[in-house]
Amino acid sequence: MEKVILLRIGEIFLKGKNKSYFDNSLINNIKRHLSGINYKFVKSQNRYYLEDFKEEDLDEIVDRVKKVFGLHSLSIATKVKNSEEEIKDNILEYAPHEGQSFRVTCTRADKTFPYKSYEFAAKMGGVILANVKNVEVDLHEPDVVISIDIRESGYTYIFSQKIMCAQGMPVGTAGKGMLLLSGGFDSPVAGWRMARRGMRISAIHFHSYPHTSLQAKEKVIDLAKVMTEYCGDIDLFIVPFTKIQEAIHEHCRADFMITIMRRIMIMIAERIAKANECGALITGESLAQVASQTVESITSTNQAVELLPVFRPLIGMDKSEIIETAEHIGTAKLSELPYPDCCTVFLPDFPVIKPKLQVAIDEQAKLVDLEALIQDAIDNTEKMRLKPSYTEE
Ligand code: ATP
Ligand code: MG
Repeated sequence: MEKVILLRIGEIFLKGKNKSYFDNSLINNIKRHLSGINYKFVKSQNRYYLEDFKEEDLDEIVDRVKKVFGLHSLSIATKVKNSEEEIKDNILEYAPHEGQSFRVTCTRADKTFPYKSYEFAAKMGGVILANVKNVEVDLHEPDVVISIDIRESGYTYIFSQKIMCAQGMPVGTAGKGMLLLSGGFDSPVAGWRMARRGMRISAIHFHSYPHTSLQAKEKVIDLAKVMTEYCGDIDLFIVPFTKIQEAIHEHCRADFMITIMRRIMIMIAERIAKANECGALITGESLAQVASQTVESITSTNQAVELLPVFRPLIGMDKSEIIETAEHIGTAKLSELPYPDCCTVFLPDFPVIKPKLQVAIDEQAKLVDLEALIQDAIDNTEKMRLKPSYTEE
């Protein structure tokens, strides 16, 4: 019998008038994720079905679809005709194991089907009881729920297991954000979380070659590449930061090094964001995680931003929760690699933990040619477009 995949949509289910906009984005994203695979896409009310694919592609399809934001869950189902015999012949595949409890649920959109839904559910429950030893019906807390969905189209779908998908909103429905991407655990997770709310992601990385290695840069490219499997294409901007760091080191108070670096990073990020249609900045900051993530530090970074909102989706998360997500996304094993990024260059012994905003402003003002340095960094920024592996030949 034919195996199909049933997809349930997530939060866009709640959308009113503009639901079709979200629906269309989601469908386009699913199709992009499934590039290169043959299948048929069927839409029916709040569900989608993937049909007519080769059996050996099933695992790959499930794997890719699980990474599409906007889908809630999926089930692998058997598709049969609306016939009592066919349903009966296929239901045992979904039967509980010995010792388990179960319930059969049935929905019947095809009113020509000769049983009412509860009657048919009971009848199929009887088939299972007659064929599987040592199982019992439990309508309230069953171990296994077997669903029979009898559609008007003339076809019935039988399934039991629900596989969770990535949830959230379809990428591209909530504008575009510029992620400040370093090599650590946090920023890739921050970008992933905003993509999950529907943002398309661009990313910016500051590197300090030759103070930091080329491997540090490669690591960030690899991280962004992993993110594309969920987020779709990512434009990555790599900004040479060496001259600016050297200038800060030469002219500003050592304990304000990190504070001023952060201010200038975010200034450059905002300019590149605006020039590339990004409506927000995203960072991986988490309150109190390190000295540069106190309220005072965040205040002094934030004050350097002119207009764009700065999203910090990890601000209230524990490191262990962040690492768990990084493992789930697949960025953790890269973030673990030991190539230091620019934040470790000229690191003072005692960075200020609660920087006074006015001191930060005054120290930064000592960089008399800051504007020229920023322009030079922007002019020498390298831009690359990263694509998910499934869209490559
Ligand atoms: P991460 O794990 O993301 O590296 P972190 O815990 O190391 O974060 P910090 O080094 O204080 O934290 O950086 C805070 C945030 O500033 C990062 O999450 C990232 O958004 C941004 N950031 C830091 N360094 C860079 C860099 N070299 N290029 C781009 N963004 C950076
Ligand atoms: Mg870092």
